Amino acid sequence: MLAVCSDLDETPDADTYFAIAKYLNTGEQTPIGKGVGLEIGNTLFFDMAPGEFSYWGACEAERRYARALIHSGHIDCLHSFGDLAATRDHAQRALDELERHNCRIRCWVDHAIAPSNLGPDIMAGFGDDPEHEVYHADLTLAYGIRYVWVGRVTACIGQNVPYSPTTSLRAERSLQSLINTGRDIAKIARATLGDDKYGMHRGNLLMRPFALRDGQRATEFIRCNPHPHGVSVGDDALGFGQAITEAALGHLIQRRGVSVIYTHLGKHVDAEHILPAQTRMGFERLADAQHRGDILIATTRRLLDYLTARQTVQFEASPSLVALTLPSGIPGDGLAWRWQGETPRVTVNGRDVSPVRVEEGWRTWLTLPWPRLSFPLPD
Ligand SMILES: [Zn+2]
Repeated sequence: MLAVCSDLDETPDADTYFAIAKYLNTGEQTPIGKGVGLEIGNTLFFDMAPGEFSYWGACEAERRYARALIHSGHIDCLHSFGDLAATRDHAQRALDELERHNCRIRCWVDHAIAPSNLGPDIMAGFGDDPEHEVYHADLTLAYGIRYVWVGRVTACIGQNVPYSPTTSLRAERSLQSLINTGRDIAKIARATLGDDKYGMHRGNLLMRPFALRDGQRATEFIRCNPHPHGVSVGDDALGFGQAITEAALGHLIQRRGVSVIYTHLGKHVDAEHILPAQTRMGFERLADAQHRGDILIATTRRLLDYLTARQTVQFEASPSLVALTLPSGIPGDGLAWRWQGETPRVTVNGRDVSPVRVEEGWRTWLTLPWPRLSFPLPD
């Protein structure tokens, strides 16, 4: 399972931002070419200088469309509040706007060294420091942010399965890929010696509990860029296709791992096609792998919600009733279990749902549907 989590840094304007979303999520003709029909979300800024797309920098029609994409699940991460959000008032104003329009974003991704970042170490943030004027973590978590990315990356594609040396080392055995693998192994070694900064690397985990400085708790996730020359290379519109190679996808699929890809699809865009040919080929590879049934591509939020559901679901079963209990706000989409006998009544948090019955040889599975998000077109 894979999500592409793209920071919108340097996305020059609304046309580029929306064209990328349409190309990734529909099969229609777009300025980039025919869409690849995947399900890939996007991040959002509020306070940025002109020249980079942001909510407050957009006109009312563009904001309305951005809100439609939040409602549909295609904008699923805040990318800090932006470089210019320096006080609690900036955060409050953005959250008030989201609340007013019933826009629910559940993921937070730190940006560069934005003051509102939540990561204290790598991302130098102050957003969770109650002594600081940009403190907002109480408001932001109360609004509904549940998952946070605070700077940690790995070159290993495929988390929640045992660590495996990077794809590039396996595929090309170059000096650069040896250095990359060495970096990951050094992080694992530091974690083994007790350095919590790299605790996720030790277990090759995608998520872990995260304690903010104000005492609140969230869930941290790690992102991955398997580019052969390092996690900070090819993390943009130019290099995506070099990072997501057939070898990288094969490595993920064969190990049955799950990853959230680190990239910036609005950065270094091509004046003619926005995304250059090799990056479009990277997305076509993803679409092919999904059509073959080898991989499920989901938005960041759906991927994290699904893993959370698997970890937290409680299950009471009798031959006629299966009652699933999940934490508030976590959908049961895609949960599946072995079953013998007639299809029972199934409920999630007391509400009836319709499972799908899947026969696989002599085994039967029941699975809750994974509905496709519906991509809105501008009005
Ligand atoms: Zn950024």
